[in-house]
Amino acid sequence: MEKRRGNQIRQKTEELKKNQSLSPNELAVLQTEKLRDLLLHCVAHVPAYEAYSHLEEEIKRDPAAALRRLPVLTKSLFKEGFDSYLNRETDKEALIANYTGGSTSEPVKFYMDRHMVEYYEAARWRGLSWWGITPGSRSVMIWGNPLELNRYETRKYSFKERWLKNRIMIPAYSLRAEEIENYLKRIRSFKPEYIYGYASALNLFSELMSRQNLSSGFELKAVVSTAETLHEFQRQAIEKAFGCPVVNEYGARDGGIIAYQCGDGGMHISAENALLEVVDPATFEPLPPGESGLLLVTDLNNYVMPRLRYQVGDRAALSDESCPCGMGLPVLNKLDGREDDMFVTVDGKFIHGHAFNHLSRRMDSIRKFQIIQESPDRASLRIVQEEGSGQSEIDEFIRKVKELLPGTDVEVSMVADIPVSGSGKFRYTIRKFPL
Ligand SMILES: [Zn+2]
Repeated sequence: MEKRRGNQIRQKTEELKKNQSLSPNELAVLQTEKLRDLLLHCVAHVPAYEAYSHLEEEIKRDPAAALRRLPVLTKSLFKEGFDSYLNRETDKEALIANYTGGSTSEPVKFYMDRHMVEYYEAARWRGLSWWGITPGSRSVMIWGNPLELNRYETRKYSFKERWLKNRIMIPAYSLRAEEIENYLKRIRSFKPEYIYGYASALNLFSELMSRQNLSSGFELKAVVSTAETLHEFQRQAIEKAFGCPVVNEYGARDGGIIAYQCGDGGMHISAENALLEVVDPATFEPLPPGESGLLLVTDLNNYVMPRLRYQVGDRAALSDESCPCGMGLPVLNKLDGREDDMFVTVDGKFIHGHAFNHLSRRMDSIRKFQIIQESPDRASLRIVQEEGSGQSEIDEFIRKVKELLPGTDVEVSMVADIPVSGSGKFRYTIRKFPL
C-alpha cells in the first residue's frame, strides 16, 4: 500500500510515538500550534466559519479561547449546513466519503482525506504499540461481516483480509453457541497476537466459552475492545476467557481514534490529532476536569471538511491528573459511549446490534431507528423517516431487518421521534431478556 498509494501511516506512527515522550506542557504547545493553524484556515477558507474572521487576532494570540467563541456543532447543524463546511480549495478528487448510521441518533455523511485517515490509523498503531503489537501482527477480528456479498465476493474479501492484512474474521453478525469450539480451533491454528472486536461480541464469545468449559489454548498479547463502552463485567469475563489484558480503544467513525488505554489503565487522548472539550449538556458551558458531560471533538488534521467543537454523541470527563505510566498524553477520566445489544434469532443465532446499523448506514430516508427485542420471537422496530424522503428505502430497511431475524415477528411503526434515555444517550438496540 505504501508503494502503490504512497501511504504514510508508518511515518505518522513514528511521529506520534516520538510525541508520547514529550511533557504535558510540550504537548499542549504542539496542540495549540495545530489548533491555531486550523482555525486560521477555517476562517479564511471554510464558508461555515468565515463569519468568524473577526476573531483572527484572538486566534493568533489564544486559539483555545477563540475556539470557545464558536458554536457547538451538533450533528443536525452539520447536516443542515453540509456544503458550507467544505474547504473551498479542496481538490474534490481527494475526498473520501464516509457515513455514520441511524444508530448515532442522527445519521451523518461527511468527507475525509487520506491525510487525516492516516493519522487515525497512526493513533491506533501507537496505542497498540504500548502492548507490543505492530502492523503485521497476526490478528483475529470478531467483527461485522459484509452483509450483501455473493460467494465470490466473500472469498475475495477473506483472501484480502488474510493475505494483505494478516487477519481472519469471525462474524459478529451471526455467532452460534455450537460453533464456538470450531472458532477456537481456527484461532488456535492461526496463532494470532491479538483479538480485536466489539465489547459486547467479545463478551458474548467469552461467556459462551465459559458456559461450555472451553479454554483458549493460545497466548495473546491482548484483546482489544472497540466501538462500544467496555463495562467492567465485560472486561473481567474477557480477561478470564483469554487469560490476557483487555485493552480499551475509543474511537468514532466521525471522530477518529480519540483515546487508547495504556498498560496502567489510563485512557490516553490522541492529543495531537484531536482537541477534546467536555461541556454541560444544557448550557454548553465547559465543565471542569472530573465532571462528566458532552464530549466535543475538534479534529486537528481535518482541513477538508473541518468540524469544530463537534458533538460526537458520547459523554466523558477530562482529567488533570497524570498517568503512572509517565506518558505526557492527557487522559480521559470517565467515558460513556455507545451501547449495543446482542439479539437472538428463534433458532439460537446471535446477531450483533451493529448489523442493523450497517443496513441503515447509506439510507438517507432513515433519520433514526430503534429496535427492541422482547423475546426471540417478538421484536418492535420504530423508524423516524427523514422529511420529504421516499418510501422505497424504508421498505428495503424493514425487509432486511426481518431477514436478519427470521422467524421473529417484527412489529413496525413509523414515529415522529424517539426520545433519548434518562442518561441523555440514545440506545438504538435493546434486548429485554437475558441471553
Ligand atoms: Zn498511561
